[in-house]
Amino acid sequence: MKKKITTFLLSLTLCVGITACSFLPQTSGAGTSLSSSNPDVVEGSEEESTLSSRVESYEYNSEQDEDSSSNDENSSSDSEDSSSNDEDSSSDSEDSSSSEEDSSSNDENSSSGGEETEVADLSVHFLELGNEYAGDCTLIDIGDTEILIDAGSRKESAPTLKAYIDKYCKDGTLEYVIATHAHQDHIAAFVGTGSGNNKTGILYQYEVGTLIQFSKTNSTTQIYDNYKSAVTYAKSQGTTVHTVLECWNNTNGAKRSYEVGEGITMNFLYQSYYATSTSDENDYSVCMLLKQGENNFLFTGDLESAGEASLVASNTLPKCKLYKGGHHGSKTSSTAALLAKIQPEIVCVCCCAGTNEYTETQANQFPTQAFINRIAPYTDKVYVTSAKAGYTLNGNITVSCAGSGMVTVTGSNNNLILKETAWFKAERTLPAAWR
Ligand SMILES: [Zn+2]
Repeated sequence: MKKKITTFLLSLTLCVGITACSFLPQTSGAGTSLSSSNPDVVEGSEEESTLSSRVESYEYNSEQDEDSSSNDENSSSDSEDSSSNDEDSSSDSEDSSSSEEDSSSNDENSSSGGEETEVADLSVHFLELGNEYAGDCTLIDIGDTEILIDAGSRKESAPTLKAYIDKYCKDGTLEYVIATHAHQDHIAAFVGTGSGNNKTGILYQYEVGTLIQFSKTNSTTQIYDNYKSAVTYAKSQGTTVHTVLECWNNTNGAKRSYEVGEGITMNFLYQSYYATSTSDENDYSVCMLLKQGENNFLFTGDLESAGEASLVASNTLPKCKLYKGGHHGSKTSSTAALLAKIQPEIVCVCCCAGTNEYTETQANQFPTQAFINRIAPYTDKVYVTSAKAGYTLNGNITVSCAGSGMVTVTGSNNNLILKETAWFKAERTLPAAWR
């Protein structure tokens, strides 16, 4: 069957729900410079400025998309470049390269008239964590296959996450779990609470097929010790455990690219802190690019500007349909250099907007004004899970992507884009690109 994707329909739907969350460790590194103007702004970002809690839609011309990505540097050749640049890309990487080549050639063909391709549907869920702390938990649902990235923000979050995950994971098995780095707000609910046979942690509650984790950490915390115990338990139950560096190197049975659904691959990207020590734990974050036909989804954990610089230098990054805002919307992540490559269309931020968990400086509370200013030239479709008391943001955010290209964003509380929210109007300044 030929599937030529020529238009994307983005519609926002709404429901009602609850909110909660505060923040976690925000490293205050050197602020990155603001880039408030970019010539290659994604088409359609301004027309949608009037989205409200009604369903609205717009057409997105994917051929323009193709054009600008080829100007930028073809995403199709990226994966090959990065493979061939890397010494370790031994013959094992053939699998991953070939699967990426497949999807790249689909990209090319679809822009020039179509190619026989079947691409499965998927949904990406950014979960609320049951409290007012910043933290990450992202569920990717592809038919019977589930990928869970991180489990924040506190040990007590585990039952909240499980209740949500169980709506999609019906067989008690998470095929893939990714732990991006060793901070509490990303690993605590893997551990959970309780003892003996009553442990609530995700790694105790589910069978886990393959767990892929950071390859380095400086952590000496109790929660990290508890996490290691939980991983040991998972291994005893049959879980395969790899580091992201093993994945990148295609060693010990790990793979750089996993086929996780029809026409869908989970690809681990390289950044130098997989192998090099740093004092900034966030820069150890696992970076993953999910590819669904022409759609790309980028997840970088809490990677900071130094890690992002390496990520940009080490990979040819494609334009991304969805980007999980780096490090909860910190001013020290989502650098201009990264955004210029990925040109995100939809940005989801996991944080509790405006809490003073890490700083009293209002502009630097997640999601920061600097982050918003850098994102604004690319898109105004920014969604945020939670906000401090007195405000309500999206709640659990679901981005549903049909294999045909239809994308829908739904919030359990509301579907307002960030700039339309009361929190934004009270606590942030409208960037020029959003006026
Ligand atoms: Zn974090």
